[in-house]
Amino acid sequence: MAQAWAASDVRGVRLWRAPDNTRLVFDLSGPVQHNVFTLAAPDRIVIDVSNAALKTSIEQLPLKNTPITGMRAAQRTADELRLVIDLSAEVTPKSFTLDPNQEYGHRLVVDLFDKGSDVDTPSVPATVTPSVPAAPVAPTLPATKRPTSPSARRDIVIAIDAGHGGEDPGALGPGNAREKDVVLAIAKRLQTQINAEKGYRAELTRTGDYFIPLRKRTEIARKKGADLFVSIHADAAPRSVAYGASVYALSDRGATSETARWLADTENQSDLIGGVGNVSLDDKDRMLAGVLLDLSMTATLSSSLDVGQRVLRNMGRIAPLHKDRVEQAGFMVLKSPDIPSILVETGFISNPGEANKLRSANHQQALARSIHTGIRQFFQQSPPPGTYIAWLRDSGKVSIGMREHTVRSGESLALIAQRYQVTLDSLRRANKLDSNIIKIGQTLTIPASTLASQQ
Ligand SMILES: [Zn+2]
Repeated sequence: MAQAWAASDVRGVRLWRAPDNTRLVFDLSGPVQHNVFTLAAPDRIVIDVSNAALKTSIEQLPLKNTPITGMRAAQRTADELRLVIDLSAEVTPKSFTLDPNQEYGHRLVVDLFDKGSDVDTPSVPATVTPSVPAAPVAPTLPATKRPTSPSARRDIVIAIDAGHGGEDPGALGPGNAREKDVVLAIAKRLQTQINAEKGYRAELTRTGDYFIPLRKRTEIARKKGADLFVSIHADAAPRSVAYGASVYALSDRGATSETARWLADTENQSDLIGGVGNVSLDDKDRMLAGVLLDLSMTATLSSSLDVGQRVLRNMGRIAPLHKDRVEQAGFMVLKSPDIPSILVETGFISNPGEANKLRSANHQQALARSIHTGIRQFFQQSPPPGTYIAWLRDSGKVSIGMREHTVRSGESLALIAQRYQVTLDSLRRANKLDSNIIKIGQTLTIPASTLASQQ
């Protein structure tokens, strides 16, 4: 039924709950104009959508843990739809429309920010709310970075960033494999492993299935006082045979290869998908160019490459590598000028075999362990001053850091102890072994060899 004015249908409604906001996404058959306003006593949000008709049910939304208590719709005129959202608490709405992408058609997005969330001091340069002065993106750093308590032996803080989320599924693979799910699972496993180690603390930028703009991710890392930012992703390629893991650090002149550039574009599109669509990437790049002149960026980048190489080497022990050295690209999340940052592509989700592996708990655990080992090796070599790990090193408690060893044919526990210059006892303790029996393929933790044990 074609009509002269081509009304758009609201074909679906999706809802995502984030820690400080609730996102509603209305899937549309075409472009619409809309107006959002709030009413108090009782708190309600009214969304008027012109040139639209509701063609879906709005009763099945998962409203648990949201301030939304119900949603009603009325066709005010033949072509004006009114949606009323009943609320249990006051919220601040932000709304925008999105054009179609590969994944979705036209959308109307309404974000309801909880009272007390930082919607009024946006962390992205203030293009969404032009009246708010732009937050400095880069050069503010050391003063706010961490509490001033030099005597405390603080933990080394690792920010783990699971890519994509919510509205943005990331790369898609066979069997309904979605990057956003796989990378969150790996991120959580990595967090658990890191938190089990004394002297380290891991923080996730996102803890569930919701969207965070790219710039906000680095912002969260900075607020948590991160010493390292690790973004976890899974690749997709037009050719399903592409395979292997990669590690990226920032390049100062954009991508170093066509593949890297293509990837950088894909990952950066996240912000556009996520709704800060009118943020100009050009402006940020120009700002970044200034930051790059700073010597601190050079030091940060060299640390990023160092930790990236260690992570890559360890991943190479459990998975095929796409490239055997750290690649460099202009990923937005790597642009913190003061926090060493890497982006780990854990494999190609577009490759049926790798998609399967990426969804298996065992492989996720192994990937997390290899990333963890690389991170540990880096910080044992260069612990930030004031940390417990730096204190261990400086007080001679650790001469060589903890390592892992995979048992090969013909090796005995005594031989391994000798090779790593640790006592048989400490090796057994570190692995909770009550005999000297080991199996081929078993992964042993090699304890740090202290000066005392070498005398
Ligand atoms: Zn990704």
